[in-house]
Amino acid sequence: MSRPGRSCVWYPFTQMSETAAAPFLSIVRARGNYLYDERGRKYFDGVSSLWCNLHGHAIPEIVRAISRQAATLDHSTLLGLTHPWAEELGRRLVSIAPKGLSRVFYSDNGATAVEVALKMAYQHWQNRGEPHRTRFMSFRLSYHGDTMGAVSVGGLDIFHATFKPLLFKSVKVDPPYCYRCPLKLKFPSCRYKCLEAVESALKRHSRRLAAFVVEPKVLGAGGMIVQPPGYLARLARLCRKYNVPLIADEVATGFGRTGRMFACEHENVRPDFLCLAKGITAGILPLAATLTTERVYSAFLGRYEELKTFFHGHTFTGNPIGCAAALANLDYFKARQVLKTLPPKIRYFRDRLETLRGVSHVGDIRQAGLMVGIELVRNVSSREPYAWVEAVGRKVSARMREDGVLVRPIGNVLILAPPLSSTPAELSRLVAATRRGIQDVLA
Ligand SMILES: *Cc1c(COP(=O)(O)O)cnc(C)c1O
Repeated sequence: MSRPGRSCVWYPFTQMSETAAAPFLSIVRARGNYLYDERGRKYFDGVSSLWCNLHGHAIPEIVRAISRQAATLDHSTLLGLTHPWAEELGRRLVSIAPKGLSRVFYSDNGATAVEVALKMAYQHWQNRGEPHRTRFMSFRLSYHGDTMGAVSVGGLDIFHATFKPLLFKSVKVDPPYCYRCPLKLKFPSCRYKCLEAVESALKRHSRRLAAFVVEPKVLGAGGMIVQPPGYLARLARLCRKYNVPLIADEVATGFGRTGRMFACEHENVRPDFLCLAKGITAGILPLAATLTTERVYSAFLGRYEELKTFFHGHTFTGNPIGCAAALANLDYFKARQVLKTLPPKIRYFRDRLETLRGVSHVGDIRQAGLMVGIELVRNVSSREPYAWVEAVGRKVSARMREDGVLVRPIGNVLILAPPLSSTPAELSRLVAATRRGIQDVLA
């Protein structure tokens, strides 16, 4: 959009009428944790290019793997053919995933990974002779992508309400949004009281439910709403008790973002489905995977004429270059012992973030590893929110850009999601820019 008026591109999640007056910054180059605009100005990638970049940009090992793969086998198909990189990546993903997940189905983005899980969960019940299981349960404020099925289980009215007549019905329950607890209780003295409503919904609908879809540990696009410790394990236990399969949407939380390879690991949760995208290729190419159990997989086995087959696939399912990037990503995790570097980094980040408490209009600071939401409020003691039309998140983020930091807020929640490769100095700078932004804009 460097030449306003000439662009033919319709941008995502964008009110295009505003872009003529405020053209988008054009990013022309990236290296390490930095993006560069056409004037050569350098910006810290404060949200990892939409929560997906892990180790920085233009990492030589990954670039080499991609270029080697492009020259060897750029694309073929998994419909009626195979290639070694899809097979190898499948084995590697199973070896690092929570126990019990033994089958890998590829697609190309987060929404498709979720669509695949929804369709698999539904059809596996059809194939097993429980055709009444047609409903899904999920959280209000959850986000699972923008295709119709993913929107049907999503709970962000501002994005989703328009499409309501087109969506399938799903059962929505309240997530544990502790800062604005609907029960007006406090953790831990609440003793997970909010799970009682979840349990009664599970009990009431269990015979009709195909699965419960959850973003484990953090509802990302809902505003980085972090579940209190112990919540996820209890939720998983309830699903098991009522025989409702659990779909873990780890599109955002997967690949180290919360400090462990997968967020489910924090609470030893073994989901029936695991949806992966964003970080799977270190955030460089579109690739996604839906993992599931032998139990689900076996429900699809039979003679062809029984029509138990999973009739689903995408042209670029399991694209070899994407698979090679994902393999290079997993190699990088191993060679650099990335997961070991995270706990001290996350603790340091927490300490820096703590310094924002007491800054005026900082209501809540929520952190799960390298995913952070800072909820800005009009009044800290009453927790009175800003009206969303005031766009305070946007204004603060715009101010931060002047300090050389790129972030993208969600409503009144500032989002920080720096690459796993961020150094302590960079994390410190990110928090300092956030403080200056808040103080300058909201003073
Ligand atoms: C980003 C996201 C998605 C959608 O992924 P896309 O690749 O944008 O389709 C789904 N679920 C969660 C939790 C996400 O954060």
